[in-house]
Amino acid sequence: MTSQEARTMAVGDRPRIGEPVIQLENVTKIYPGASPVVALDKATFTIRRGELVAIVGPSGSGKSTLLQVMGTLDRPTSGRVRIVGEDVARMSDRALAQVRATRIGFVFQQFFLAEHATALENVADGLLYSGVRYRSRLAAARTALERVGLGHRLHHRPSQLSGGERQRVAIARALVGNPAIVLADEPTGNLDSVSGSAIFELLQELNREGATIVMITHDRALAARLRRRIEVLDGHIVAEVNADEEEALL
Ligand code: ADP
Ligand code: MG
Repeated sequence: MTSQEARTMAVGDRPRIGEPVIQLENVTKIYPGASPVVALDKATFTIRRGELVAIVGPSGSGKSTLLQVMGTLDRPTSGRVRIVGEDVARMSDRALAQVRATRIGFVFQQFFLAEHATALENVADGLLYSGVRYRSRLAAARTALERVGLGHRLHHRPSQLSGGERQRVAIARALVGNPAIVLADEPTGNLDSVSGSAIFELLQELNREGATIVMITHDRALAARLRRRIEVLDGHIVAEVNADEEEALL
């Protein structure tokens, strides 16, 4: 196989990159206080439909702050955030909550599952604000759990699941409403390396099936396995790598 053929094949494995889903323009976030912290300083980048992007940097570099701002969980101190083209600053809290509930899926290091609820119920909760009826929510939750390889654990509670399985439930919950983007903050951070790798591979597989995913990690080796990476240090975007663009220039 020539290198050109190899490239064509590799490209064929990935979804087509489409319109912008999240756009950040000079986004700054300052936490006020006796000594204010500049957690983000003029961050500018765009995430497009079909991408799988790593945001990588050491602890304290501003990654979670970036996720909060990208996910409309927090408003920036200055700069502009657009979600599927819409300027977040122009939206009411109510409209923002609607966007967050229907267009963005979140995955966190600590899973944040309801302990008293089954896997199926936890995932169905991802559709609470979608206007979908209870029975349809359960049906969609079952499909989402099957998609992450947990079709045999529908009625288990979080305490009856391994860490890797809990994170699969959280990923199913993030995906069940078919959001425009999934934002994952250190999704492998609480897992041993084997289950962490499996979760990483699941995210890659979901991306090949069309999901747009941003994965935040402090793990440089993990990030290095992705074709697009945004590197953060002390609140600054210090590097952007895009293997697809580099290949296009060859
Ligand atoms: P990371 O996720 O990369 O570890 P964070 O975004 O959590 O980084 O934090 C970036 C910086 O902002 C750190 O110096 C942190 O101490 C500070 N910080 C984060 N959240 C707050 C907050 N709510 N109030 C004040 N400072 C904060
Ligand atoms: Mg963090």
